[in-house]
Amino acid sequence: MSSNADDEHDPEGATIAFERQQAAALLDQARRRLVEVDEALARAAAGAYGRCAECGGPIGTERLAARPHARTCVACAR
Ligand SMILES: [Zn+2]
Repeated sequence: MSSNADDEHDPEGATIAFERQQAAALLDQARRRLVEVDEALARAAAGAYGRCAECGGPIGTERLAARPHARTCVACAR
């Protein structure tokens, strides 16, 4: 996402480049989250939702409430 670096010697372009960068970062975040949600849905379909992908133990309802797309338990997330 550094292909807009050329805009920076143009004062107007710098703002646009900055906003573009912000938008790209948000989009990136949304994409990553979408992948995580997709994986969570796949695990739900497979009956593995709520199970840690690392140790196979329960993720815990509190963690799932805070991060419904969590794929590992608190211990394995560290
Ligand atoms: Zn675990």
